[in-house]
Amino acid sequence: MTRKSTTRDTTEQSLRKAMVVTARQLDARGLNRGTSGNIGVRVGRGLLVTPSGVNPMSLKPSSMVLMDTDGQNLGRGVPSSEWRIHRDIFVARADVGAVVHTHSTFAATLCVHRKSIPAFHYMIAVAGGDSIRCAPYALFGTQALSDGVIKALKDRRACLMANHGLVALGSDLSQAVAVAIEVESLCEMYWRALQLGEPHILGKSEMDEVIERFKHYGQHRAL
Ligand code: 13P
Ligand code: ZN
Repeated sequence: MTRKSTTRDTTEQSLRKAMVVTARQLDARGLNRGTSGNIGVRVGRGLLVTPSGVNPMSLKPSSMVLMDTDGQNLGRGVPSSEWRIHRDIFVARADVGAVVHTHSTFAATLCVHRKSIPAFHYMIAVAGGDSIRCAPYALFGTQALSDGVIKALKDRRACLMANHGLVALGSDLSQAVAVAIEVESLCEMYWRALQLGEPHILGKSEMDEVIERFKHYGQHRAL
């Protein structure tokens, strides 16, 4: 075995372990229940996805299904029914290393209305723009659903899916989970705000300012 392939194997093994931890974390935080939702990570020129219909507590690193970008199963087991969403995101977005899909309660609640979430709070910028779009309804596990999700994710790190849930992206798993947690929290805030009437929505120039400020937020600040 060459040194290069040893490194690749080590990386794949650590990603498999991280996927188990992440699936359990999403369940423990109440973002997913039972076998709802799934996770994908980029590995080499392909991807690893969680297996279909397996409870997070039963997952093992070896349960993750290795696929290539043609959709060929290179390993064992049945991949998540949403493998097309994961595959299509990795093909379309070189910046993305991990994808998290949840049926979290508040996101799923808003999804029923099939509406984008406007900039009712400046943290909407976490999803990459001045709104979080909602992809049209399509049957779970279909190419039609994936096509709608890819469109809704244009210049974004998250979107809703009509009558379904959310998709969050990150350069790695921890970032994708952080985006999913923030989007779910924003959905709860928006749902609560709607109880009191029509919220004020931030304008384009206000959101442009937020997006610009985020470029230097936290430890990335230029001196
Ligand atoms: P899988 O168990 O096949 O990943 O399906 C769960 C899901 O959320 C479908 O959208
Ligand atoms: Zn789903």
